[in-house]
Amino acid sequence: MIVGIDLGTTNSLVAVWRDDAPQLVPNALGSVITPSVVGLDDQGLILVGQAARERLQTHPQLTTALFKRHMGSGHETTLGQRRFRPEELSALLLRSLKEDVERAYGEPVEEAVISVPAYFSDAQRKATRIAGELAGLKVEKLVNEPTAAALAYGLHHKDRETSFLVFDLGGGTFDVSILELFEGVMEVRASAGDNFLGGEDFDTALLQHFVASQREDAQFPDINGSGILHRLRCEAERVRQALGQQASETFVFSHGGRRWELEVTQDDLQKVSAALLERLRGPIERALRDARIRVADLDEVLLVGGTTRMPLVRKLAAGLFGRFPALHINPDEAVALGAAVQAALKSRAAALEEVVLTDVCPYTLGIETTMQFGRQYESGHYLPIIERNSVVPVSRVKTVQTLQDGQARVLLQIFQGESRLVKDNIPLGELDIPVPPRKAGEVKLDVRFTYDNNGILEAEVTLPDSGERHSLVIEKNPGVLSPEEVRQRLAELASLKVHPRNQQVNTLLLARLERLYQESLGEARSQLAQLAGAFQQVLAEQDPARIEAMREAVQVRLDEIEQSVWQ
Ligand code: AMP
Repeated sequence: MIVGIDLGTTNSLVAVWRDDAPQLVPNALGSVITPSVVGLDDQGLILVGQAARERLQTHPQLTTALFKRHMGSGHETTLGQRRFRPEELSALLLRSLKEDVERAYGEPVEEAVISVPAYFSDAQRKATRIAGELAGLKVEKLVNEPTAAALAYGLHHKDRETSFLVFDLGGGTFDVSILELFEGVMEVRASAGDNFLGGEDFDTALLQHFVASQREDAQFPDINGSGILHRLRCEAERVRQALGQQASETFVFSHGGRRWELEVTQDDLQKVSAALLERLRGPIERALRDARIRVADLDEVLLVGGTTRMPLVRKLAAGLFGRFPALHINPDEAVALGAAVQAALKSRAAALEEVVLTDVCPYTLGIETTMQFGRQYESGHYLPIIERNSVVPVSRVKTVQTLQDGQARVLLQIFQGESRLVKDNIPLGELDIPVPPRKAGEVKLDVRFTYDNNGILEAEVTLPDSGERHSLVIEKNPGVLSPEEVRQRLAELASLKVHPRNQQVNTLLLARLERLYQESLGEARSQLAQLAGAFQQVLAEQDPARIEAMREAVQVRLDEIEQSVWQ
Protein backbone atom coordinates (compact mmCIF):
# COMPACT_ATOMS: atom_id res chain seq x y z
CA MET A 1 0.00 0.00 0.00
CA ILE A 2 1.26 3.48 -0.84
CA VAL A 3 0.41 6.58 1.21
CA GLY A 4 0.78 10.35 0.86
CA ILE A 5 2.35 12.21 3.76
CA ASP A 6 2.49 15.91 4.61
CA LEU A 7 5.55 15.99 6.89
CA GLY A 8 5.03 19.46 8.30
CA THR A 9 6.96 21.75 10.63
CA THR A 10 4.12 21.99 13.18
CA ASN A 11 1.71 19.25 12.10
CA SER A 12 1.79 16.14 9.92
CA LEU A 13 -0.98 14.29 8.11
CA VAL A 14 -1.27 11.05 6.17
CA ALA A 15 -3.75 10.22 3.42
CA VAL A 16 -4.55 7.23 1.20
CA TRP A 17 -6.32 6.88 -2.12
CA ARG A 18 -9.63 5.04 -1.64
CA ASP A 19 -12.81 4.93 -3.72
CA ASP A 20 -11.35 7.27 -6.30
CA ALA A 21 -10.58 10.01 -3.82
CA PRO A 22 -7.85 10.90 -1.34
CA GLN A 23 -8.81 10.27 2.29
CA LEU A 24 -7.11 11.42 5.46
CA VAL A 25 -6.36 8.75 8.04
CA PRO A 26 -6.92 9.46 11.76
CA ASN A 27 -4.26 8.70 14.38
CA ALA A 28 -4.65 6.67 17.60
CA LEU A 29 -6.44 9.64 19.18
CA GLY A 30 -8.95 9.92 16.34
CA SER A 31 -7.51 13.13 14.85
CA VAL A 32 -6.26 13.49 11.28
CA ILE A 33 -3.70 16.06 12.45
CA THR A 34 -0.66 14.76 14.33
CA PRO A 35 1.53 17.45 15.88
CA SER A 36 5.14 17.08 14.66
CA VAL A 37 6.44 16.61 18.19
CA VAL A 38 8.58 13.72 19.48
CA GLY A 39 9.55 12.99 23.06
CA LEU A 40 10.23 10.39 25.70
CA ASP A 41 7.61 9.40 28.25
CA ASP A 42 8.35 8.84 31.94
CA GLN A 43 9.55 5.30 31.19
CA GLY A 44 11.88 6.48 28.43
CA LEU A 45 9.60 5.18 25.65
CA ILE A 46 9.14 7.19 22.44
CA LEU A 47 6.03 9.35 22.42
CA VAL A 48 4.80 11.06 19.23
CA GLY A 49 2.07 13.62 18.50
CA GLN A 50 -0.47 15.34 20.74
CA ALA A 51 0.64 13.70 24.00
CA ALA A 52 4.24 14.73 23.28
CA ARG A 53 3.03 18.24 22.46
CA GLU A 54 1.27 18.52 25.82
CA ARG A 55 4.62 17.68 27.44
CA LEU A 56 6.60 20.36 25.58
CA GLN A 57 5.94 22.81 28.38
CA THR A 58 6.14 20.38 31.32
CA HIS A 59 9.09 18.26 30.06
CA PRO A 60 11.14 20.48 27.73
CA GLN A 61 14.30 18.34 28.16
CA LEU A 62 12.49 15.21 26.99
CA THR A 63 10.47 16.68 24.12
CA THR A 64 11.28 18.33 20.81
CA ALA A 65 9.41 20.13 18.01
CA LEU A 66 10.21 22.09 14.83
CA PHE A 67 12.90 19.58 13.79
CA LYS A 68 11.96 19.94 10.13
CA ARG A 69 13.85 23.23 10.28
CA HIS A 70 17.07 21.26 10.82
CA MET A 71 16.59 18.69 8.04
CA GLY A 72 19.72 18.27 5.95
CA SER A 73 22.02 19.69 8.62
CA GLY A 74 24.15 17.86 11.15
CA HIS A 75 22.17 19.34 14.05
CA GLU A 76 21.46 16.90 16.87
CA THR A 77 18.86 17.05 19.63
CA THR A 78 19.38 15.37 22.97
CA LEU A 79 16.41 13.56 24.47
CA GLY A 80 17.25 11.75 27.68
CA GLN A 81 20.47 9.79 27.14
CA ARG A 82 20.42 9.82 23.36
CA ARG A 83 21.13 12.27 20.58
CA PHE A 84 18.85 12.33 17.54
CA ARG A 85 19.43 13.68 14.05
CA PRO A 86 16.48 15.47 12.41
CA GLU A 87 16.11 12.51 10.02
CA GLU A 88 15.62 10.21 12.99
CA LEU A 89 13.04 12.43 14.67
CA SER A 90 11.18 12.66 11.37
CA ALA A 91 11.45 8.87 11.02
CA LEU A 92 9.78 8.35 14.40
CA LEU A 93 6.94 10.61 13.30
CA LEU A 94 6.65 8.84 9.93
CA ARG A 95 6.64 5.47 11.68
CA SER A 96 3.70 6.59 13.78
CA LEU A 97 1.74 7.79 10.69
CA LYS A 98 2.55 4.54 8.90
CA GLU A 99 1.19 2.58 11.81
CA ASP A 100 -2.01 4.67 11.86
CA VAL A 101 -2.72 3.59 8.29
CA GLU A 102 -1.81 -0.04 8.95
CA ARG A 103 -4.23 -0.10 11.88
CA ALA A 104 -7.00 1.56 9.90
CA TYR A 105 -6.74 -0.65 6.81
CA GLY A 106 -5.11 -3.82 8.14
CA GLU A 107 -2.56 -3.82 5.35
CA PRO A 108 1.18 -3.20 5.50
CA VAL A 109 2.30 0.19 4.23
CA GLU A 110 5.57 -0.07 2.36
CA GLU A 111 5.75 3.00 0.18
CA ALA A 112 5.10 6.69 0.54
CA VAL A 113 5.03 9.97 -1.32
CA ILE A 114 6.27 12.65 1.07
CA SER A 115 5.86 16.39 0.55
CA VAL A 116 8.72 18.88 1.00
CA PRO A 117 8.84 22.68 0.67
CA ALA A 118 9.60 23.84 -2.86
CA TYR A 119 12.77 25.56 -1.64
CA PHE A 120 14.25 22.41 -0.02
CA SER A 121 17.81 21.87 -1.24
CA ASP A 122 19.26 18.64 -2.44
CA ALA A 123 20.64 17.87 1.05
CA GLN A 124 17.25 18.50 2.65
CA ARG A 125 15.50 16.29 0.09
CA LYS A 126 18.04 13.48 0.65
CA ALA A 127 17.52 13.79 4.40
CA THR A 128 13.74 13.45 3.91
CA ARG A 129 14.22 10.30 1.83
CA ILE A 130 16.50 8.87 4.51
CA ALA A 131 13.88 9.68 7.18
CA GLY A 132 11.43 7.58 5.15
CA GLU A 133 13.91 4.76 4.86
CA LEU A 134 14.58 4.84 8.61
CA ALA A 135 10.81 4.55 9.14
CA GLY A 136 10.68 1.44 6.94
CA LEU A 137 9.13 3.26 4.00
CA LYS A 138 10.29 3.23 0.43
CA VAL A 139 9.99 6.86 -0.58
CA GLU A 140 8.48 6.52 -4.03
CA LYS A 141 8.68 10.20 -4.65
CA LEU A 142 9.04 13.56 -2.95
CA VAL A 143 6.44 16.06 -4.05
CA ASN A 144 6.76 19.82 -3.61
CA GLU A 145 4.18 21.11 -1.13
CA PRO A 146 2.67 23.67 -3.55
CA THR A 147 2.49 20.99 -6.25
CA ALA A 148 0.66 18.73 -3.82
CA ALA A 149 -1.82 21.53 -3.08
CA ALA A 150 -2.40 21.92 -6.82
CA LEU A 151 -3.01 18.18 -7.17
CA ALA A 152 -5.55 18.28 -4.33
CA TYR A 153 -7.39 20.96 -6.29
CA GLY A 154 -7.22 18.79 -9.41
CA LEU A 155 -5.30 21.40 -11.38
CA HIS A 156 -3.35 18.63 -13.14
CA HIS A 157 -6.50 17.85 -15.11
CA LYS A 158 -6.27 21.16 -16.95
CA ASP A 159 -5.24 20.52 -20.50
CA ARG A 160 -3.86 23.94 -21.28
CA GLU A 161 -0.90 25.80 -19.86
CA THR A 162 -1.80 26.99 -16.37
CA SER A 163 -0.03 29.38 -14.01
CA PHE A 164 -0.99 29.64 -10.39
CA LEU A 165 0.16 30.90 -7.06
CA VAL A 166 0.15 28.95 -3.79
CA PHE A 167 -0.14 31.15 -0.72
CA ASP A 168 0.89 29.02 2.28
CA LEU A 169 0.62 30.65 5.71
CA GLY A 170 1.16 28.18 8.55
CA GLY A 171 1.90 28.50 12.25
CA GLY A 172 5.38 29.95 11.87
CA THR A 173 6.21 30.40 8.20
CA PHE A 174 4.91 31.98 5.05
CA ASP A 175 5.72 30.47 1.64
CA VAL A 176 4.65 31.73 -1.73
CA SER A 177 5.22 29.60 -4.82
CA ILE A 178 4.42 30.23 -8.42
CA LEU A 179 3.90 27.14 -10.50
CA GLU A 180 3.31 26.46 -14.11
CA LEU A 181 1.73 23.37 -15.57
CA PHE A 182 2.61 22.67 -19.16
CA GLU A 183 2.11 19.42 -21.06
CA GLY A 184 1.87 17.36 -17.88
CA VAL A 185 4.98 18.85 -16.27
CA MET A 186 4.74 21.02 -13.19
CA GLU A 187 7.46 23.58 -12.77
CA VAL A 188 8.12 25.69 -9.70
CA ARG A 189 8.85 29.00 -11.39
CA ALA A 190 9.69 30.87 -8.20
CA SER A 191 9.33 30.60 -4.50
CA ALA A 192 9.75 33.21 -1.82
CA GLY A 193 8.90 33.36 1.83
CA ASP A 194 9.33 34.64 5.31
CA ASN A 195 10.39 32.20 7.99
CA PHE A 196 9.36 34.51 10.75
CA LEU A 197 5.76 35.11 9.75
CA GLY A 198 2.82 32.89 10.66
CA GLY A 199 -0.18 32.44 12.95
CA GLU A 200 2.06 32.70 16.02
CA ASP A 201 3.04 36.25 15.09
CA PHE A 202 -0.62 37.27 15.02
CA ASP A 203 -0.94 35.70 18.47
CA THR A 204 2.05 37.69 19.70
CA ALA A 205 0.52 40.93 18.37
CA LEU A 206 -2.79 40.19 20.10
CA LEU A 207 -1.05 39.22 23.33
CA GLN A 208 0.93 42.48 23.32
CA HIS A 209 -2.31 44.41 22.78
CA PHE A 210 -3.80 42.68 25.83
CA VAL A 211 -0.71 43.23 28.01
CA ALA A 212 -0.56 46.91 26.96
CA SER A 213 -4.21 47.36 27.98
CA GLN A 214 -3.30 46.22 31.52
CA ARG A 215 -0.33 48.57 31.81
CA GLU A 216 -1.99 50.75 34.45
CA ASP A 217 -2.61 47.77 36.71
CA ALA A 218 0.43 47.32 38.96
CA GLN A 219 -0.81 43.88 40.00
CA PHE A 220 -0.66 42.45 36.51
CA PRO A 221 2.11 39.79 36.69
CA ASP A 222 5.47 39.95 34.94
CA ILE A 223 4.90 38.15 31.65
CA ASN A 224 8.29 36.47 31.95
CA GLY A 225 7.06 34.57 35.02
CA SER A 226 6.86 30.78 34.78
CA GLY A 227 4.42 29.60 32.13
CA ILE A 228 2.66 32.99 31.88
CA LEU A 229 3.70 33.81 28.34
CA HIS A 230 2.68 30.34 27.19
CA ARG A 231 -0.80 30.76 28.66
CA LEU A 232 -1.20 34.24 27.21
CA ARG A 233 -0.16 32.86 23.84
CA CYS A 234 -2.70 30.02 23.99
CA GLU A 235 -5.43 32.50 24.95
CA ALA A 236 -4.41 34.84 22.12
CA GLU A 237 -4.67 31.94 19.65
CA ARG A 238 -8.11 31.02 20.99
CA VAL A 239 -9.37 34.61 20.70
CA ARG A 240 -7.88 35.02 17.21
CA GLN A 241 -9.58 31.84 15.99
CA ALA A 242 -12.90 32.80 17.62
CA LEU A 243 -12.81 36.15 15.81
CA GLY A 244 -13.03 34.19 12.57
CA GLN A 245 -16.66 33.43 13.41
CA GLN A 246 -17.85 36.25 15.62
CA ALA A 247 -17.58 40.02 15.85
CA SER A 248 -15.96 40.12 19.29
CA GLU A 249 -14.49 37.87 21.96
CA THR A 250 -13.23 38.36 25.51
CA PHE A 251 -9.52 37.87 26.17
CA VAL A 252 -9.29 36.45 29.70
CA PHE A 253 -6.27 35.84 31.86
CA SER A 254 -6.32 34.52 35.43
CA HIS A 255 -3.38 34.42 37.78
CA GLY A 256 -2.90 34.28 41.55
CA GLY A 257 -6.65 34.37 42.17
CA ARG A 258 -7.22 37.46 39.97
CA ARG A 259 -8.72 37.85 36.52
CA TRP A 260 -8.07 40.37 33.80
CA GLU A 261 -10.34 40.76 30.78
CA LEU A 262 -10.42 42.65 27.54
CA GLU A 263 -13.12 42.69 24.89
CA VAL A 264 -11.43 42.28 21.49
CA THR A 265 -13.32 43.11 18.30
CA GLN A 266 -12.53 42.16 14.72
CA ASP A 267 -11.52 45.79 14.22
CA ASP A 268 -9.01 45.53 17.07
CA LEU A 269 -7.56 42.37 15.54
CA GLN A 270 -7.31 44.13 12.21
CA LYS A 271 -5.45 47.05 13.80
CA VAL A 272 -2.94 44.93 15.70
CA SER A 273 -2.41 42.71 12.63
CA ALA A 274 -1.97 45.53 10.12
CA ALA A 275 1.84 45.45 10.10
CA LEU A 276 1.92 41.66 9.75
CA LEU A 277 -0.64 41.66 6.94
CA GLU A 278 1.46 44.28 5.20
CA ARG A 279 4.49 41.97 5.43
CA LEU A 280 2.66 39.31 3.41
CA ARG A 281 2.99 41.51 0.35
CA GLY A 282 6.80 41.41 0.10
CA PRO A 283 7.29 37.69 -0.65
CA ILE A 284 4.31 37.73 -3.05
CA GLU A 285 5.80 40.58 -5.03
CA ARG A 286 9.22 38.92 -5.00
CA ALA A 287 7.85 35.62 -6.28
CA LEU A 288 5.85 37.35 -9.03
CA ARG A 289 8.89 39.35 -10.07
CA ASP A 290 11.18 36.28 -10.06
CA ALA A 291 8.68 34.31 -12.14
CA ARG A 292 8.17 37.31 -14.44
CA ILE A 293 4.46 36.98 -14.21
CA ARG A 294 1.70 39.50 -13.55
CA VAL A 295 -1.19 38.95 -11.18
CA ALA A 296 -3.60 39.16 -14.10
CA ASP A 297 -1.84 36.20 -15.76
CA LEU A 298 -2.43 33.85 -12.82
CA ASP A 299 -5.15 31.29 -13.50
CA GLU A 300 -5.66 30.35 -9.86
CA VAL A 301 -4.64 31.34 -6.35
CA LEU A 302 -4.67 28.54 -3.77
CA LEU A 303 -4.70 29.11 -0.02
CA VAL A 304 -2.82 26.56 2.10
CA GLY A 305 -1.89 26.48 5.82
CA GLY A 306 -4.07 26.85 8.91
CA THR A 307 -3.63 30.61 9.24
CA THR A 308 -5.32 31.24 5.87
CA ARG A 309 -8.55 30.37 7.70
CA MET A 310 -8.38 33.88 9.15
CA PRO A 311 -10.93 36.10 7.36
CA LEU A 312 -8.44 38.99 7.50
CA VAL A 313 -5.89 36.96 5.57
CA ARG A 314 -8.48 35.83 3.03
CA LYS A 315 -9.65 39.40 2.56
CA LEU A 316 -6.10 40.57 2.01
CA ALA A 317 -5.46 37.77 -0.50
CA ALA A 318 -8.70 38.58 -2.33
CA GLY A 319 -7.70 42.26 -2.50
CA LEU A 320 -4.13 41.57 -3.64
CA PHE A 321 -5.15 39.14 -6.35
CA GLY A 322 -8.39 40.83 -7.35
CA ARG A 323 -10.37 37.61 -6.98
CA PHE A 324 -11.51 35.12 -4.39
CA PRO A 325 -8.93 32.38 -3.91
CA ALA A 326 -9.96 28.75 -4.37
CA LEU A 327 -11.24 27.59 -1.00
CA HIS A 328 -13.15 24.34 -1.24
CA ILE A 329 -10.43 22.23 0.40
CA ASN A 330 -9.43 22.70 4.05
CA PRO A 331 -6.20 24.68 3.89
CA ASP A 332 -4.43 22.51 6.45
CA GLU A 333 -5.36 19.28 4.62
CA ALA A 334 -4.60 20.17 1.00
CA VAL A 335 -0.94 19.09 0.99
CA ALA A 336 -1.57 15.62 2.45
CA LEU A 337 -4.53 15.03 0.12
CA GLY A 338 -2.37 16.08 -2.83
CA ALA A 339 0.43 13.75 -1.74
CA ALA A 340 -2.13 10.91 -1.83
CA VAL A 341 -3.21 11.96 -5.33
CA GLN A 342 0.44 11.82 -6.38
CA ALA A 343 0.73 8.37 -4.77
CA ALA A 344 -2.29 7.14 -6.74
CA LEU A 345 -0.93 8.57 -9.98
CA LYS A 346 2.39 6.94 -9.25
CA SER A 347 0.85 3.52 -8.74
CA ARG A 348 -0.89 3.90 -12.10
CA ALA A 349 2.43 5.03 -13.63
CA ALA A 350 0.77 8.33 -14.50
CA ALA A 351 2.63 10.52 -12.01
CA LEU A 352 2.91 14.18 -12.67
CA GLU A 353 6.46 15.13 -13.53
CA GLU A 354 8.04 17.99 -11.68
CA VAL A 355 10.92 20.24 -12.50
CA VAL A 356 12.59 21.03 -9.23
CA LEU A 357 14.77 24.03 -8.62
CA THR A 358 17.32 23.41 -5.92
CA ASP A 359 19.90 26.04 -6.72
CA VAL A 360 19.11 27.98 -3.63
CA CYS A 361 20.76 28.58 -0.30
CA PRO A 362 18.41 26.40 1.72
CA TYR A 363 18.97 28.00 5.14
CA THR A 364 18.95 31.46 6.57
CA LEU A 365 22.47 32.54 7.52
CA GLY A 366 22.99 35.29 10.06
CA ILE A 367 24.67 36.54 13.19
CA GLU A 368 23.88 37.01 16.84
CA THR A 369 22.58 40.43 17.76
CA THR A 370 21.37 42.31 20.81
CA MET A 371 17.86 43.73 20.79
CA GLN A 372 16.50 46.64 22.72
CA PHE A 373 13.16 46.32 24.53
CA GLY A 374 12.28 49.63 26.15
CA ARG A 375 15.40 50.43 28.17
CA GLN A 376 16.51 46.81 28.38
CA TYR A 377 19.01 45.07 26.13
CA GLU A 378 18.77 41.37 25.42
CA SER A 379 21.47 39.39 23.64
CA GLY A 380 21.01 36.06 21.89
CA HIS A 381 18.75 37.29 19.08
CA TYR A 382 19.26 36.31 15.45
CA LEU A 383 19.90 38.81 12.69
CA PRO A 384 19.40 37.10 9.31
CA ILE A 385 21.81 38.25 6.60
CA ILE A 386 21.17 35.82 3.74
CA GLU A 387 17.54 34.69 3.86
CA ARG A 388 16.89 31.06 3.05
CA ASN A 389 15.73 30.34 -0.43
CA SER A 390 17.95 33.00 -1.99
CA VAL A 391 19.16 31.96 -5.44
CA VAL A 392 22.90 31.21 -5.32
CA PRO A 393 25.51 32.65 -5.65
CA VAL A 394 24.35 35.39 -3.34
CA SER A 395 26.04 38.17 -1.41
CA ARG A 396 24.39 40.44 1.21
CA VAL A 397 25.60 43.09 3.66
CA LYS A 398 24.18 44.30 6.97
CA THR A 399 25.68 46.98 9.20
CA VAL A 400 26.01 46.54 12.94
CA GLN A 401 27.44 48.83 15.59
CA THR A 402 29.09 48.77 19.00
CA LEU A 403 26.82 48.67 22.04
CA GLN A 404 28.95 50.03 24.87
CA ASP A 405 31.11 53.08 25.41
CA GLY A 406 34.80 52.22 25.06
CA GLN A 407 34.09 48.74 23.67
CA ALA A 408 37.38 47.29 22.36
CA ARG A 409 36.22 44.11 20.59
CA VAL A 410 33.21 42.79 18.74
CA LEU A 411 32.62 39.05 18.80
CA LEU A 412 30.68 38.17 15.70
CA GLN A 413 28.99 34.78 15.98
CA ILE A 414 27.69 33.17 12.81
CA PHE A 415 24.67 30.88 12.71
CA GLN A 416 22.57 28.89 10.28
CA GLY A 417 18.88 28.33 10.97
CA GLU A 418 15.41 29.73 11.12
CA SER A 419 14.77 30.41 14.79
CA ARG A 420 14.45 33.82 16.41
CA LEU A 421 16.98 32.97 19.13
CA VAL A 422 20.49 31.87 18.19
CA LYS A 423 20.49 29.13 20.83
CA ASP A 424 18.04 27.26 18.59
CA ASN A 425 20.17 27.70 15.47
CA ILE A 426 23.36 25.96 14.40
CA PRO A 427 26.66 27.75 15.21
CA LEU A 428 28.98 27.88 12.20
CA GLY A 429 31.90 29.95 13.48
CA GLU A 430 32.95 33.27 14.96
CA LEU A 431 35.11 36.30 14.27
CA ASP A 432 36.70 38.26 17.08
CA ILE A 433 37.32 41.78 15.82
CA PRO A 434 39.31 44.50 17.64
CA VAL A 435 37.65 47.92 17.28
CA PRO A 436 38.79 51.43 18.31
CA PRO A 437 37.26 52.31 21.71
CA ARG A 438 34.67 55.03 21.11
CA LYS A 439 31.20 55.96 22.30
CA ALA A 440 28.48 53.31 21.93
CA GLY A 441 27.15 53.17 18.39
CA GLU A 442 29.99 55.20 16.89
CA VAL A 443 31.91 52.25 15.49
CA LYS A 444 30.09 50.65 12.57
CA LEU A 445 30.89 47.27 11.00
CA ASP A 446 29.72 46.08 7.58
CA VAL A 447 29.08 42.34 7.70
CA ARG A 448 29.03 40.75 4.24
CA PHE A 449 27.99 37.12 3.70
CA THR A 450 28.69 35.46 0.37
CA TYR A 451 27.29 31.98 -0.33
CA ASP A 452 28.45 30.23 -3.48
CA ASN A 453 27.26 27.33 -5.64
CA ASN A 454 29.37 24.85 -3.66
CA GLY A 455 27.67 25.69 -0.39
CA ILE A 456 30.67 27.62 0.93
CA LEU A 457 29.95 30.67 3.06
CA GLU A 458 32.40 33.53 3.34
CA ALA A 459 31.80 36.04 6.13
CA GLU A 460 33.70 39.31 5.68
CA VAL A 461 33.66 42.19 8.13
CA THR A 462 34.83 45.67 7.13
CA LEU A 463 35.25 48.69 9.37
CA PRO A 464 34.27 51.46 6.96
CA ASP A 465 36.24 54.11 8.91
CA SER A 466 39.61 52.37 8.64
CA GLY A 467 38.91 50.04 5.72
CA GLU A 468 40.23 47.17 7.87
CA ARG A 469 38.91 43.70 6.86
CA HIS A 470 38.50 40.36 8.60
CA SER A 471 37.14 37.25 7.00
CA LEU A 472 36.22 33.64 7.68
CA VAL A 473 35.42 30.87 5.22
CA ILE A 474 32.95 28.20 6.33
CA GLU A 475 32.89 24.98 4.32
CA LYS A 476 29.87 22.87 3.49
CA ASN A 477 27.31 21.84 6.07
CA PRO A 478 27.81 18.51 7.75
CA GLY A 479 26.38 16.44 4.96
CA VAL A 480 23.87 13.73 4.49
CA LEU A 481 24.21 10.35 6.24
CA SER A 482 26.19 7.73 4.31
CA PRO A 483 24.54 4.36 3.51
CA GLU A 484 26.66 2.79 6.27
CA GLU A 485 25.49 5.40 8.79
CA VAL A 486 21.88 4.87 7.68
CA ARG A 487 22.21 1.12 8.37
CA GLN A 488 23.63 1.85 11.78
CA ARG A 489 20.91 4.38 12.68
CA LEU A 490 18.28 1.98 11.40
CA ALA A 491 19.47 -0.69 13.82
CA GLU A 492 19.54 1.83 16.67
CA LEU A 493 16.04 3.11 15.91
CA ALA A 494 14.74 -0.45 15.71
CA SER A 495 15.91 -1.01 19.26
CA LEU A 496 13.99 2.00 20.61
CA LYS A 497 10.80 1.10 22.40
CA VAL A 498 7.71 3.05 21.51
CA HIS A 499 5.00 4.13 23.90
CA PRO A 500 2.14 1.59 23.55
CA ARG A 501 -0.44 2.84 21.11
CA ASN A 502 -3.43 1.72 23.15
CA GLN A 503 -2.23 3.80 26.08
CA GLN A 504 -1.91 7.04 24.16
CA VAL A 505 -5.31 8.36 25.21
CA ASN A 506 -4.44 7.86 28.86
CA THR A 507 -0.99 9.35 28.44
CA LEU A 508 -2.44 12.40 26.73
CA LEU A 509 -4.83 12.84 29.63
CA LEU A 510 -2.03 12.52 32.20
CA ALA A 511 0.09 15.02 30.25
CA ARG A 512 -2.84 17.44 30.17
CA LEU A 513 -3.40 16.96 33.91
CA GLU A 514 0.23 17.73 34.56
CA ARG A 515 0.23 20.85 32.37
CA LEU A 516 -2.93 22.18 34.03
CA TYR A 517 -1.43 21.44 37.44
CA GLN A 518 1.60 23.56 36.57
CA GLU A 519 -0.63 26.35 35.28
CA SER A 520 -3.03 26.40 38.23
CA LEU A 521 -2.83 27.53 41.83
CA GLY A 522 -4.67 26.88 45.09
CA GLU A 523 -7.90 24.90 45.06
CA ALA A 524 -7.75 23.92 41.39
CA ARG A 525 -4.26 22.60 41.93
CA SER A 526 -5.17 20.31 44.80
CA GLN A 527 -8.17 19.03 42.82
CA LEU A 528 -5.87 18.24 39.90
CA ALA A 529 -3.43 16.43 42.18
CA GLN A 530 -6.32 14.33 43.54
CA LEU A 531 -7.56 13.55 40.05
CA ALA A 532 -4.09 12.56 38.81
CA GLY A 533 -3.53 10.27 41.80
CA ALA A 534 -6.93 8.62 41.45
CA PHE A 535 -6.52 8.14 37.72
CA GLN A 536 -3.09 6.58 38.13
CA GLN A 537 -4.48 4.16 40.69
CA VAL A 538 -7.23 3.04 38.32
CA LEU A 539 -4.67 2.66 35.53
CA ALA A 540 -2.60 0.40 37.77
CA GLU A 541 -5.60 -1.87 38.32
CA GLN A 542 -5.69 -2.54 34.57
CA ASP A 543 -9.46 -2.98 34.32
CA PRO A 544 -10.37 -1.55 30.88
CA ALA A 545 -14.00 -0.74 31.79
CA ARG A 546 -13.01 1.14 34.94
CA ILE A 547 -10.21 2.94 33.13
CA GLU A 548 -12.59 4.15 30.46
CA ALA A 549 -15.19 5.33 32.95
CA MET A 550 -12.57 7.16 34.98
CA ARG A 551 -11.03 8.67 31.86
CA GLU A 552 -14.35 10.13 30.83
CA ALA A 553 -14.92 11.56 34.29
CA VAL A 554 -11.43 13.11 34.35
CA GLN A 555 -11.91 14.57 30.90
CA VAL A 556 -15.17 16.24 31.92
CA ARG A 557 -13.53 17.66 35.03
CA LEU A 558 -10.50 18.95 33.10
CA ASP A 559 -12.78 20.63 30.56
CA GLU A 560 -14.58 22.31 33.44
CA ILE A 561 -11.34 23.50 35.02
CA GLU A 562 -10.09 24.85 31.69
CA GLN A 563 -13.46 26.46 30.95
CA SER A 564 -13.67 28.06 34.38
CA VAL A 565 -10.87 30.36 33.27
CA TRP A 566 -13.23 31.93 30.73
CA GLN A 567 -16.17 32.45 33.06
P1 AMP B 1 -0.31 24.76 9.93
O1 AMP B 1 1.14 25.10 10.15
O2 AMP B 1 -0.76 24.83 8.53
O3 AMP B 1 -0.73 23.51 10.65
O4 AMP B 1 -1.13 25.98 10.64
C1 AMP B 1 -1.10 26.19 12.02
C2 AMP B 1 -1.65 27.58 12.29
O5 AMP B 1 -2.99 27.69 11.78
C3 AMP B 1 -1.73 27.95 13.78
O6 AMP B 1 -1.10 29.21 13.98
C4 AMP B 1 -3.21 28.05 14.04
O7 AMP B 1 -3.53 29.05 14.99
C5 AMP B 1 -3.76 28.44 12.69
N1 AMP B 1 -5.18 28.09 12.57
C6 AMP B 1 -5.75 26.85 12.55
N2 AMP B 1 -7.10 26.95 12.48
C7 AMP B 1 -7.39 28.28 12.46
C8 AMP B 1 -8.61 29.03 12.41
N3 AMP B 1 -9.80 28.44 12.36
N4 AMP B 1 -8.52 30.40 12.40
C9 AMP B 1 -7.32 31.00 12.45
N5 AMP B 1 -6.14 30.35 12.50
C10 AMP B 1 -6.16 29.01 12.51
